[in-house]
Amino acid sequence: MSVKIPEEKLAEIRNASDIVDVIGDYVQLKKNGRQYGGLCPFHDEKTPSFSVSEEKQVYHCFGCGAGGNVFTFLQDLEGWSFAKTVAHLAGKAKISLPQVVESNEYQVYEDTSKVDAMKKAHQLAASTYHSIFMFTEEGSPGRVYAQERYFTEAQIDHFKIGYALDEWETLAKVLEQNEFDLTIMEEAGLVAKRKSSGYYDLFRNRLIFPISDNNGDIVGFGGRIVGEGQPKYLNSPETPIYQKAKTLFHMFEARPIIRKKNKAYLFEGALDVMAAWKSGIENAVATLGTALSQDHAKLLRRNAEEIILCYDGDRAGREAIRKTIPVLENVGCQIQVCLLPDGYDPDDYVKEFGEEALKAYLEKELLSVMAFKMYDAKQTKNLQNEGERLKYIEDMLEAIAQLESIEQEHYLKQLSKEFNLSFQVLHQEMMRKERKTAPVRQQQQAERYGDTVKAHHTFQTARPIAAHIKAERMLLGYMLQDEEMIWRVTERLQDGFNIDEHQALYAYLISFVSQHPEKGIKEFIESLEDQKLAKLAAYLLMQDVKVECTDAELDDYIKKIEQYPKLLQIKEQQQAARLEQDPVLAAQKQMELIRKKRELLGK
Ligand SMILES: [Zn+2]
Repeated sequence: MSVKIPEEKLAEIRNASDIVDVIGDYVQLKKNGRQYGGLCPFHDEKTPSFSVSEEKQVYHCFGCGAGGNVFTFLQDLEGWSFAKTVAHLAGKAKISLPQVVESNEYQVYEDTSKVDAMKKAHQLAASTYHSIFMFTEEGSPGRVYAQERYFTEAQIDHFKIGYALDEWETLAKVLEQNEFDLTIMEEAGLVAKRKSSGYYDLFRNRLIFPISDNNGDIVGFGGRIVGEGQPKYLNSPETPIYQKAKTLFHMFEARPIIRKKNKAYLFEGALDVMAAWKSGIENAVATLGTALSQDHAKLLRRNAEEIILCYDGDRAGREAIRKTIPVLENVGCQIQVCLLPDGYDPDDYVKEFGEEALKAYLEKELLSVMAFKMYDAKQTKNLQNEGERLKYIEDMLEAIAQLESIEQEHYLKQLSKEFNLSFQVLHQEMMRKERKTAPVRQQQQAERYGDTVKAHHTFQTARPIAAHIKAERMLLGYMLQDEEMIWRVTERLQDGFNIDEHQALYAYLISFVSQHPEKGIKEFIESLEDQKLAKLAAYLLMQDVKVECTDAELDDYIKKIEQYPKLLQIKEQQQAARLEQDPVLAAQKQMELIRKKRELLGK
């Protein structure tokens, strides 16, 4: 089955979808003059080179050359087909799409029907669990348990907490009654198949908390056993809609506040997040039974710069922190560590000391990465032993050598004081280590940024831009925002543009406005099948062009464009003249060429 999306529908969806809104779901955008800026989601970077124009509804990255409109953004970032992208945007804008119109132009959502069913089933399951918890007699074990754990009404409401009965077929029956295909529900991780026949619930006798994906759809559940039993925590398995390495618990719900504070607390489990939330730390998220992945880190970095790692202070917790730090550092996060006191998780801590105390602890008991490394190393060494003490100092000097110089001084002083050693000696030793590790660090950095460098395109570069290229870009920029300009340029420009890509775009633009005088620039960019040209168009629209191009400005650009091939010719002739055997003739030729060049440049 395939569906053709009529032109008018497409226009309606386009008009209803604001690019700043859509990209804002993925990138923390800051208003910067007439445009929005942020960190590019297409390449790893630490300083923003990604900009979005609300006015022109296009985006462009000056770092990697990515660019386009709202449709290409989702296609490129999510890897969606055009049809899926349209369906997504239509859903977001609450525009209904036509059902079935035969065409082979677009391939549509056959593959999405299963995913849809899975998401709808999760929604139904979440409300079933929640209703059982809230309103039924049978749900009382869940309520009693929640009371024992001091869950508040606000928490139950915010986290949509539910209860799965201690029975085998509650959810399976509900799903069946609602005509869900139970083989798909098994794949969705809600039920499991019996050896004999039929299906049974995966979650039983558990407090249930739904897990949302980055669009706010429920895609899985976490469950804490009520009373005794194993396993204590059970999470949904990996399914087509739930990928643990891409999902952070509470990310969707906390995103607005994380962005506002530019800061996120990262915990190891859902219950930690709930305890923190109750204490007033609302910008908290957690991984669910996995280590922090590269995708998790990117997701965090897209929303906040500062990450506070809140793990257990025990051996396993510190080990996890050691592994997590480089993953976050790689995406450019600033990291602080909050070690929870031995033997306490946030929930226990609240129970014993109260909510305010937890909040204060999470806000104040913060260690820098270096301070954590020092603390961590001390836990495993006996510093009374001279050998171990020296090893500790060596290790720390190595770590300090990798810091910024202002921090280096701070920690060197600390080491010097703690072990009663000369600052100078420590400093020298550290410098020696720095020299040793510097090439390695440069190599690592080169590797880290390697793909960025490779991704650079010809039409944007840090080098000064030649006058003719700049002139061509400016003219195209004007033409893309003002049709009148197209005709003014064609009237004067004799031989077209020098740069092939510019010439191609120019040609497409003329043919588009001739054939579709009623359409706008957004449709033009969409009509470009060559992605490279679409990117170029988005980039050109991002240039700061004035509203109107004066005749003098136009003449100047045309002159620069037309001069270039002539200058190139003179240069070639100059090279040829150097081969002239007769020195007098050679000099004459050179003089003549210099005169020609001067004339051309009007000097
Ligand atoms: Zn980029």
